[in-house]
Amino acid sequence: MALMITDACINCDVCEPVCPNEAIFEGPEHYQIRPELCTHCVGHFDTQQCVEICPVDCIPLDPQYPESTQQLHAKYLVLAGVQTVTDNDPNASD
Ligand code: SF4
Ligand code: SF4
Repeated sequence: MALMITDACINCDVCEPVCPNEAIFEGPEHYQIRPELCTHCVGHFDTQQCVEICPVDCIPLDPQYPESTQQLHAKYLVLAGVQTVTDNDPNASD
């Protein structure tokens, strides 16, 4: 699952710079997470950096985006440019 930021966020800005995927941004009311970029820090860190640093514990799992660890790792590979969505194309040449 991706993570989400609740309205308990106090806009302290410490989570945005620690995200390795630049998934966190300042929304109109409070900071938010782009679910398509959040990998739970898989591929970068053993722990979720935003959750670790948030002083008010307002970053729970987002039930709208269920993902397994395997799926999160696959997402990391695509985001890192290690693998693209066309890598499995048998007609693709290198
Ligand atoms: S869990 Fe990691 S990848 Fe996801 S938003 Fe937090 S810092 Fe970014
Ligand atoms: S660290 Fe927590 S309180 Fe601070 S901006 Fe991020 S989500 Fe909001």
